[in-house]
Amino acid sequence: MLIYLNGKLVEEEEAKISVFDHGLLYGDGIFEGIRIYNGRIFKFDEHITRLYYSAKAIMLEVPLNFYDIKNAIIQTVRANKLREGYIRLVVTRGAGDLGLNPLKCKLPTLIIIASKITLYPESLYEKGLDIITVPTRRNLSESVNPAIKSLNYLNNILAKIEANNAGVLEAVMLNQEGFVSECTGDNIFIAKEDTVMTPPVSAGVLYGITRETIMDICVKLEIEFKEVNLTRYDIFNADECFLSGTAAEIISVVSLDRRVIGNGKPGETTKNIAREFRMLTHSEGVPIYE
Ligand code: PMP
Repeated sequence: MLIYLNGKLVEEEEAKISVFDHGLLYGDGIFEGIRIYNGRIFKFDEHITRLYYSAKAIMLEVPLNFYDIKNAIIQTVRANKLREGYIRLVVTRGAGDLGLNPLKCKLPTLIIIASKITLYPESLYEKGLDIITVPTRRNLSESVNPAIKSLNYLNNILAKIEANNAGVLEAVMLNQEGFVSECTGDNIFIAKEDTVMTPPVSAGVLYGITRETIMDICVKLEIEFKEVNLTRYDIFNADECFLSGTAAEIISVVSLDRRVIGNGKPGETTKNIAREFRMLTHSEGVPIYE
């Protein structure tokens, strides 16, 4: 596997960064996860735009411009001859000293990994997921804003540990007010009486690119869509529930906290949205090999 590291494509074993990199020492940096479908990069501009927004929010200068970063990604995918896969784009504050001060970090580190990802086994896309609500709350928007796709995922990892300990694969985090925010690595939706609903970004969620794609799909399929604060009550009483993310794509949730949602099977609205999503992933995107 060839990794892009600060302007060069190097073998995986040579892709090394300083132990003084603040991405490692403090989680000071940002990232993106992008999918490759059928030799094309899906929602390419949207992901790079979000990377720049995350960078701006933490006052980090991305070392390449929009055009050059896209080019570097395409070169990396080509070098690894991928037609299906997952790109991890990471920008850290770079090497500094042992203090926190980002001003001491002169050169951001840029890493591009082009590889594969499978988040859940295929059978779970047929059966749906069982998830729980965990005690760990989503970060306050006034702290590390969940809209920033930062390298600092410890809050989500704590929630993931709670999910692991309970024997489930995903978990819902509530915000400080007790409203549903999102899962550890996915946005959450419910369908109720032909309306699809998801928490607003102000509830403490990432501006998910798959989330946005789902909004577009709802317009196309003429499904009513609402961004609205949700509680666990709303999920317990929903007809359907599903999660969205670049890696997870769209996956049904059939129970929350061991309470069955709807009839306990992936619902029709979810299936229709997922079908439309698959069509988009296989027809849209920026070609890599042309
Ligand atoms: N929320 C969190 C916390 C995530 O990590 C992700 C995955 N990147 C998402 C939501 C989904 O976002 P996207 O659809 O852009 O992958």
